[in-house]
Amino acid sequence: MISDFLFNKNIIPTLFFIIVLLIIIIILLTIFNMKVRNSERVLKESEELFRTAINSLPDIICFKDAEGCWLEANEAMLSLYNTDILIIGKKDKELGLLLPHFKEEFKACEETDKFVWQRGQTTMVEESFRQPNGEIRSFDVAKVPLYHADGRKKGLVVLGREITERKKAEEIKRQAEESNRLLKELKHYDKIKTEFFANLSHELRTPLNLILGTIQLLQLMREKNALQISTDKLDTYLSTLRQNCYRLIRLVNNLIDITKIDAGYLELQKHSCNVVNIIEDITLSVKDYIEAKGLHIIFDTDTEEKIICCDPDKLERIVLNLLSNAIKFTDAPGSIEVAIMDKDDWVKISIKDTGIGIPQSKRKAIFERFVQVDKSFTRSREGSGIGLSLVKSFVEMHGGRIHINDEYTLGSEFIIELPAGSCSSDDVILIKDIVSDTHDNKVEVISIEFSDIYS
Ligand code: ADP
Repeated sequence: MISDFLFNKNIIPTLFFIIVLLIIIIILLTIFNMKVRNSERVLKESEELFRTAINSLPDIICFKDAEGCWLEANEAMLSLYNTDILIIGKKDKELGLLLPHFKEEFKACEETDKFVWQRGQTTMVEESFRQPNGEIRSFDVAKVPLYHADGRKKGLVVLGREITERKKAEEIKRQAEESNRLLKELKHYDKIKTEFFANLSHELRTPLNLILGTIQLLQLMREKNALQISTDKLDTYLSTLRQNCYRLIRLVNNLIDITKIDAGYLELQKHSCNVVNIIEDITLSVKDYIEAKGLHIIFDTDTEEKIICCDPDKLERIVLNLLSNAIKFTDAPGSIEVAIMDKDDWVKISIKDTGIGIPQSKRKAIFERFVQVDKSFTRSREGSGIGLSLVKSFVEMHGGRIHINDEYTLGSEFIIELPAGSCSSDDVILIKDIVSDTHDNKVEVISIEFSDIYS
């Protein structure tokens, strides 16, 4: 049988064909194997090349999978954490627990990753890493989300460029600018203070000269034995002495109040008061004085009663101060108007005049201490430049605000807004000194507040 088979004429070509086929298959397999090996080698080489390349970069690079697991990171990135712990293969949350010093950093990183996936596009973020030595290293980071063709998440590429030096330079620049600003502010206040002291000497010298002049006059008369002066003249001399003493008292009072406000121990004696009564009373008590200056005074209100929690003495001083300025800066025949408007939760008080007005550029500054529109010693009106800053402090201590109405162009209009309502249990309510309500006391308060207005 076998011999039949072997000597069958047809089998030899078949066998030959099978052997050739086998040889071809073996050759193909060897070639394929070589190619696979070659590809593996090329792949390995390119992987090494890639790793060498990313490791030689100063920028930080890392790859994460769709679940946030670290797949690869370059040396610059790993050196940030300076740890022996294997970072690759772990998620930020896990790493935060393993490296507690960087817990906050990993948390922030996780949050920005989440944000990038929500946006679905390359996003620039700033990330900072607090190093164990306290140094903060900052990076401008680009986070690139990658997707499969069917839209599934593939992974996240994180690329970051260090900006620590730039940030340090920016910080130094910011500090330099801040110091510059403070220096300028300091110089500005120094200039204002110098001007104030020059002004203060003038403020002290003027009434003192007038007092001394009057005393010298009386002394001269006495020496010449000519003291038979008329009662009118004597009244004029006494009035000069009184007014200038009041002016000195006003200056000292204002300086004391400023010091108290700065030191934080000026307390308001608050009561639940009808603001309409207080302002109407004080306006009426200076009516004659204002009219004697050739000015017209109007008082207007849209309500008869509005209860506010205030210190009546301070409220009077606010109004008297503004009225004194209105008189000082308004020539006869002008007019001054005091108005009260009920604004439900607020009460609005307006004091306006038809005087010289305040230049737009000075409107904010005049509420600053020692600022005057005309600072020259040859100015026609007296003043120290403290009044409005005190008024502003008093208004703010009442929870209110003060500003100049820009729309009013016939002179100046000061608007005060104060919160309405009775005093609450939180307000420090002190028993008011009854003496301050007496007529004589009010006259004295007015005389003091108006003392730098000379006829
Ligand atoms: P002073 O004691 O110099 O009056 P204030 O602080 O009360 O100080 O006022 C500051 C400056 O504001 C004044 O010197 C004046 O230039 C300006 N001013 C205040 N009120 C008026 C007003 N009603 N009309 C014009 N100018 C005013």
